[in-house]
Formats: sequence, structure tokens, C-alpha cells
Amino acid sequence: MNNKLHTTFILGICIAIIATASCTSTTSEPSGPSFEKSALALPAIQAIASKPLITPPTIPAVIEEPQPQVITLTHKISKGESLSTIFSKLDLSRKDLHAIIHSNKLGKQFASIRPGKNLFVVTDDTGVLQQLSYKQSKVKTLIANRLDDRFNVEIISKSITTEIVNAQATINSSLFLDGKAAGLSDKTIMQLANIFAWDIDFALSLRKGDKFTVVYEKLFVEGQEFGTGEIISAEFVNQNHAFTAVRFEDKNGNVSYFSPEGKSMRKAFLRTPIEFARISSHFNLKRKHPVLNRIRAHKGVDYAARTGTPITTTGDGKITYRGRQRGYGRVVIVQHGQKYSSLYAHMSRFKKGQRVGSHVKQGNIIGYVGKSGLATGAHLHYEFRVNGIHRNPLTVKLPHAEPIKKSLLAAFKKQTQPLIAQLNKIKARNLLAQNTL
Ligand SMILES: [Zn+2]
Repeated sequence: MNNKLHTTFILGICIAIIATASCTSTTSEPSGPSFEKSALALPAIQAIASKPLITPPTIPAVIEEPQPQVITLTHKISKGESLSTIFSKLDLSRKDLHAIIHSNKLGKQFASIRPGKNLFVVTDDTGVLQQLSYKQSKVKTLIANRLDDRFNVEIISKSITTEIVNAQATINSSLFLDGKAAGLSDKTIMQLANIFAWDIDFALSLRKGDKFTVVYEKLFVEGQEFGTGEIISAEFVNQNHAFTAVRFEDKNGNVSYFSPEGKSMRKAFLRTPIEFARISSHFNLKRKHPVLNRIRAHKGVDYAARTGTPITTTGDGKITYRGRQRGYGRVVIVQHGQKYSSLYAHMSRFKKGQRVGSHVKQGNIIGYVGKSGLATGAHLHYEFRVNGIHRNPLTVKLPHAEPIKKSLLAAFKKQTQPLIAQLNKIKARNLLAQNTL
């Protein structure tokens, strides 16, 4: 038995007793030897108990049935602790632990509690667990309530209210700093950059005087702001060229950003299949091969990166080759419709769970950087073909992703026209405010 826990329990009971002034019947009958043993060992309890507050009771001491006392306790989860070790520490029944985990589908979520967070425990005065709860997020609480010898586990969600707000900024130093100054969260700044990433190179082509207007959601729980939601619409003016994007959600809940005319903001292909890498060899049809030491066209781009760096497919498609080829080592080829294909070579390993015929989505990991095949060091060799002909992946004109389907165009206009009108109104108001300053 854990003494510290008992201290908490007994203190809890005593305070409860003092508060209700019904102690004579309760204190005389504490059951179980452990209670008495612990109580004797605790001078603090005796000190409280000897205070005149308890005696004499002002309320008739006879209570027909002693009210069950409820004891609540907060346990801060430390690193390495599991629900099982916490149950042991708090001297809770293993049978209850099992009953909670296996109560229903949600029960298992108690197994993924995280260090640093709190577990709230409610027991009766004999230490029998009545309720266990864990705040998963600001909105969701996982809670187990005793029902006789079983537990019912559910998630209680607070309702989120959404407010539509807007922000404008002119770039003076960087998207991040000026975005922050305009009151945007890191998340919203990232979302904004992602929406326009296909048209604007935020690392190289952003200029002083560029500006943006963004309409987005702010989320509230019980009147308290707790985060930002999605961007509804935005305009970004880069080097005097204005790009406008609006959010559209189809019937299946798929969300994407389009131009007001219904063109996708995305391109069908990412320019590069890898993050955090530098180009170590360009597309060059007259290159001297570093290993073979003779002229051999380099029909792709090499990216030097650490072994194990994830490689992503640059477009939606189907894996048509996945295996070893002499020079390429471990190589994956993805076919994108009839016209385009991409190739990724020298991998250290493939992504598990994929095979020839697997469908992959743009940005999905397909393998990891390595130096298999003919390679001097760890790098990715990337090729892009149009109608079977090698093209320079860095300069080839990339097609837009699919526009809004014709059948959805009416729904798209209906949903997005008011949003564009709202964006225009905010821009006009902002312009007016600037001119009258
Ligand atoms: Zn290469």
C-alpha cells in the first residue's frame, strides 16, 4: 500500500467530514485496518482531528445511512508511466483497469495517455475507483464512469464556435514576421504559404511591398479563443501580380483551394521530390559521369541528402516499377496518366506496404535516400518524362492539377462567389482606410 496516496485519501475524507460536520458517525466506523494504521502514522491528521472544529457537532449526529464520500485526485503523468503503473502507484484495482480498457472501442484510448498531462481519479472513501478522466485536448475529454462492476467510456466534447476574421499585411521583412505582426498564427501563415506555394516562391521571389489579404476562421471554446481554423479565401500580390484563392468543399468533404474561375491552385506535380536537400548535379545531356568517367548524359537532377531522407512522389499516379536496376540501384517509377512519368533512384529502401500497381498521391513517401547502384554518395536521382522523353524537372512547364469538374461548377460558384465578394469588400475597405489616413 502506498502511504502517500493514503495521506491524500484520508486528508480528503477528513476535510469532507469537517465540511459536512457529520463526522461522528463516519469517523467511528472507518473500516479496514489500513485506514487506522495509516491514520496513526500521520500526526498531521491527528492535529486536524484534535481541533475543536470537529467536536461537538452542531448537526444531529445520527445519520441513517452514511453518505458515500467522494475523493478526487489529480495525477500528473510522468515520463515512462503507463496506465498500468499509475494504477499500481495509486493502489487501484487491476480488474478495473482491464474493465476500462476493454469497455468499448474508446476504452483503449486510455492506453495512449501522454506524460505531462493529468489523469483525474475519483474514488469512493474506500478507494474504489468511480471515475477516471483524461483531457485529450482543450475540446475533448475521455471519461470512464463506473456502472456496477463495469465502466462506460465516452468522449465529452465541448462545442467549438467559429468566427470569421481577416487580416492584411504588406511585406517589409518576411512573410513570417509581417504575418505575425498582422496577428496571424504560425499555422495560418503556413496555410497561406502552402496555398500559394505553386505560384509564389516564398524563399526567392517575395519582395518588399508585396501584400496579402486573408479571411480565416478563429475558433472559440467556452468564449475563449483556442486556435485558428481554415483559410476561407485569400489574395496575395507578388511583384504586382495578384493571385486569388478560395476554399471549396465538395459533397464528400474534400477541401481544396481554387482560383475564382475554378482552376486548382495546385500543380499536378511538385517541383522537387525531396525536402531539405541541395542539388548536387543538374540535368545535363553532356555530362562526364563521375563513376564511369566518360560522357554520359545526366537525364535527371541529383539531390544530395542524408541516407534515410524520405522521398515523395511528385504527382498522383501508379507505381509501374519497383525493384533493382544496375545503375539506378533501388528504383521506383511512377506513371501519371498517359503523358507523364517520374523516376526515383539510388534508394536505401522502399516504403513499406507499396508494390507495383499501388496508387500513390502527390506528396506520399515512396522510399528513402541511399546510394544503391552506381553512386558516389547518398543522393536521390530524379527524372521526369513527358511522352517518354526526359525533361529537366526544374524547368519543365508543369500542368495545373485538375480544375473543378464541369458537373460541380454550379455548386462551386454558389459556394465561393459570396466568399470572393466578402474578400473584395475587405480589400476595398482596407484600401479606403489607407487612403484616408
Ligand atoms: Zn543522377
